[in-house]
Amino acid sequence: MQLDSLWQFMQVDMEADGFESRMRQSANRQKLIKQRDFLKDQQANMKKLESDVAVMQDRLEAVKDEAARLEKVLEALSQEINDNPPATVEEAQKQSEAVTKLLDSLSRYEHELQKMRKDADTKDRQQKEIRVRAAKTKVEFDQLKVEYDKEFKADTEKLQQMRANTEKEAKKIDPKLLAKYRSIKQHCTPPMAKLINGQCSGCFMSLPSATLLDIRSGEQIVECDNCGRILYDAGE
Ligand SMILES: [Zn+2]
Repeated sequence: MQLDSLWQFMQVDMEADGFESRMRQSANRQKLIKQRDFLKDQQANMKKLESDVAVMQDRLEAVKDEAARLEKVLEALSQEINDNPPATVEEAQKQSEAVTKLLDSLSRYEHELQKMRKDADTKDRQQKEIRVRAAKTKVEFDQLKVEYDKEFKADTEKLQQMRANTEKEAKKIDPKLLAKYRSIKQHCTPPMAKLINGQCSGCFMSLPSATLLDIRSGEQIVECDNCGRILYDAGE
């Protein structure tokens, strides 16, 4: 008798659990989570790009300054050579080497500046693409969120009704038995199984005849040795 009402209770309890789990798996909810994660990723990408650009900007300024300084050195050196032409071959060679070295450095800096400008353009383009993609996703997210909020509100109300119904059914059950049910449910759900052809219908283990006798006597609650479910003899 006790187990009959516990079995009835389990039906509404499982129905409510199933409904709650379907709520969590709702297609709109999954899509919103995906879009939210995407937006977070884009934010992180944007931050990374911004910090890369800041580092590049610093380097760009430093290279520009250094190039300007070298140009002045070169100018001074040219002036010096003009004013005091070299007296010996060695001196001419030394000056020529110095000029070549300066020109080499300037050319290296010029290359680096070109490369940095190209990189800056690329990063600029990437930032624009991210902004466009993120803005598009945000619009979709906001629209879907409105729809999902409605769905969630209705489903939550329905679930609350189901849970209230479950609580009502729970009051009909012996609290000790209910506690046992809940504790089994922690590791095994549904927590009850019908006895069918001498087997536990939860795990399909054949039950020893002593267990079958215990169940049929109806004097105690019998749990399956294998899966731990409360065994229910529906008399089928
Ligand atoms: Zn079992």
